[in-house]
Amino acid sequence: MLLNSEKLVALITAIFVELKATTSDAKEVAEHLVTANLKGHDSHGVGMVPTYVSNILRGKCDVKSNPSLVQDDGAIMLIDAKMGFGQVAGRKAIDMAIQRLDQTGLVCLGVRNCHHLGRIGSYAERCSEAGYISIHFVNVVGHDPLVAPFGGKESRLGTNPFCCAIPRGNGPPIVLDMATSAIAHGKVRVAYMKDGGEVPNESLIDSEGNATQNPSVMFEEPLGSMLPFGGHKGYGLALICELLGGALAGKWTASKKSHEKDGFNIVNHMLTLIINPSIFGEKETFEEEVQNMIDYLKSTKTKNHNREVLVAGEPELDELATRSKTGISIDENSWEAIIKAAKDSGLSDKTITSILR
Ligand code: NAD
Repeated sequence: MLLNSEKLVALITAIFVELKATTSDAKEVAEHLVTANLKGHDSHGVGMVPTYVSNILRGKCDVKSNPSLVQDDGAIMLIDAKMGFGQVAGRKAIDMAIQRLDQTGLVCLGVRNCHHLGRIGSYAERCSEAGYISIHFVNVVGHDPLVAPFGGKESRLGTNPFCCAIPRGNGPPIVLDMATSAIAHGKVRVAYMKDGGEVPNESLIDSEGNATQNPSVMFEEPLGSMLPFGGHKGYGLALICELLGGALAGKWTASKKSHEKDGFNIVNHMLTLIINPSIFGEKETFEEEVQNMIDYLKSTKTKNHNREVLVAGEPELDELATRSKTGISIDENSWEAIIKAAKDSGLSDKTITSILR
């Protein structure tokens, strides 16, 4: 079914407000999730709402938590989100760091103990809008690991996203924003929710280590594992995200088995470097060279003669343009789960119907 983005934002805002979040925090999280759908990442969109509601009801996500600045030392900043909404803490942390850039030219920012930061590209885009480069290393803990190390057949890592955005003088930033698993876990969920859905080759193994395209191995016992993207190279980058986001910023890696006693949660820790592109001299020369490189890439002949090559960030803008017009497509099972979550939060049928009318 196709849903209108404003109605989705209104419904999700109402759900979080019903669960005692402030209206502004609830709306910020709702807009973040809906924007993920609009940019083509259904894995990190409104399909996460049932998990968020469950986490809030089980006391795993504290909608009242205010992030605090626990270390403030010039270019070094550390923010503790204290298990509040990652979308709120992450955005506030990035805004604080951006303000600091004028004095320091570079900021090393840690954000720890976030309930799911969502689509990491949103923080990178905020830095680009302010004219800054940013690099983000994130780990995912709070639940059993999902990704097998290269050559292994048991999970040891989260889907640890890496993101880097480069602003451009003219034009949208380059935004490389990706899970270090072959596909994002949410995309396995989206495939699982669609009856008979499959994931691409070389994304999953079953509990015996055999390759499979069946998403159920990530949801039904005996559980299999996701694979890192690009074999040993993706595995290496996932490890770096684990160590910089997890060990350095969060002091919590997947090796800590806290999920076993605490029950399921999604916790992100993020290490971000934000860089003013003027630090090595004129920004204009940098911007010119970025543009030269993009032009050079796009001058290549392509297999599909109708289309030039893309740079990271462009597929999301294409999706945004399309989905802003068409609306957001949600499969029946996911929609049913969202409506159930709305009811679990305490919203009545009448309120849900009136919001969606
Ligand atoms: P993806 O594979 O769809 O895209 C990865 C990157 O490749 C993007 O930057 C995209 O612009 C670029 N890209 C795609 N097609 C391209 C093409 N044809 N040419 C050039 N560039 C191209 O992304 P993904 O790995 O599925 O990740 C989806 C989202 O999941 C991301 O936003 C990520 O931050 C998020 N995520 C979050 C968590 C978390 O715990 N918070 C964990 C994992 C992933």
